[in-house]
Amino acid sequence: MVEIFQDLVSYGHEQVSFFQDKQSGLKAIVGIHSTVLGPALGGCRMWNYATEADALKDVLRLSRGMTYKAAVAGLKLGGGKAVIIGDARKDKTEEMLKAFGRSVEMLGGRYFTAEDVGMSVADMDVLRTQTKYAVGGSNQGGSGDPSIMTAFGVFQGMKAAVKFAGLGEDLNGMTVAVQGVGNVGHHLCSYLSAAGARLVVTDIYQPNIDRIVEEFGAEVVAADDIYSVECDVFAPCALGAVLNSRSVPLLKTKVIAGAANNQLENESDGHELMRRGIVYSPDYAINAGGLINVSAELTSYNKELVLGKVSQIHGTIATILQMSKDEGIPPHVAADRMAEQRLKEKKPVAARATASV
Ligand code: NAD
Repeated sequence: MVEIFQDLVSYGHEQVSFFQDKQSGLKAIVGIHSTVLGPALGGCRMWNYATEADALKDVLRLSRGMTYKAAVAGLKLGGGKAVIIGDARKDKTEEMLKAFGRSVEMLGGRYFTAEDVGMSVADMDVLRTQTKYAVGGSNQGGSGDPSIMTAFGVFQGMKAAVKFAGLGEDLNGMTVAVQGVGNVGHHLCSYLSAAGARLVVTDIYQPNIDRIVEEFGAEVVAADDIYSVECDVFAPCALGAVLNSRSVPLLKTKVIAGAANNQLENESDGHELMRRGIVYSPDYAINAGGLINVSAELTSYNKELVLGKVSQIHGTIATILQMSKDEGIPPHVAADRMAEQRLKEKKPVAARATASV
């Protein structure tokens, strides 16, 4: 017997919904972790999971993460996420996207979807033909690609972290090692270059490296060498679980501040960073710029207001790092406590569909 409820109870989910559409081949799972602070918002990931159990596990883990991300960002949003099982390059069709859009619509505004791995701004536009509850599209007031706001937030949080580390707040002349120069990494390099930072970068996709070298004159290292670069800041902007028992001993940085989700492989890696005196900026607190950007569509999108709100990531990171110091706990634990406190202060309310997207 599959023990689905056991996981739901241990993660604390309100609802998990399975959707299938025979004609298009859609197989999707939507996880609504919490609507305590508002309707759940989180991207849809299309991925070729090895097993259905892997897909379920991913949606449970990711949707819970969104609850914490929204809470720490001070948003009136809950946490949710969706997964579509399949290869985005081969299996995705307009019919499938439309079927997924109808599925999201059926949830009546308890869950808003957006981009994640395997889903693009253009895909959101297709979903929006079927549902009012998709954000991040390019049409009808959509805010488009969120990665520039994610990078701007990381840049702000990085300044707070280097200040906390006693390096001053001016990134001019500092060395920043960027792992992954895709959407977010590229925008981040642009902010860093304008601020006068020296860039050392790596990627596994040569065209993305070429673009950074051409635009910003960055130094390039091999993928495995990025951890041992002598630098002021290490910015993981590629994959999760890159801070682990193999990589942490190699680090020659004072600060970690990057966009990647789930950077710590294990809780113990956060403790080890603290023991080594490396200032870690918790991932879901520093990379909330994209979420703040798409969430602004639920009222009326205003870029100036969004920039103001994303700038507050500076203060959020400063507060978390101070809390970590005062309480003698690693920053990732301090971030969790901040999120849990915000959730506790708020009594559960029925999630309302507040959007007119
Ligand atoms: P992306 O796919 O555009 O860029 C990722 C880059 O990392 C690619 O260029 C890829 O080639 C490179 N890469 C992959 N494996 C690598 C490796 N082993 N070593 C070096 N480089 C490697 O993705 P993105 O949108 O820029 O997102 C980057 C990270 O930030 C992801 O972890 C994502 O979950 C997270 N994130 C993104 C956003 C957003 O707004 N896009 C928001 C929050 C969090």
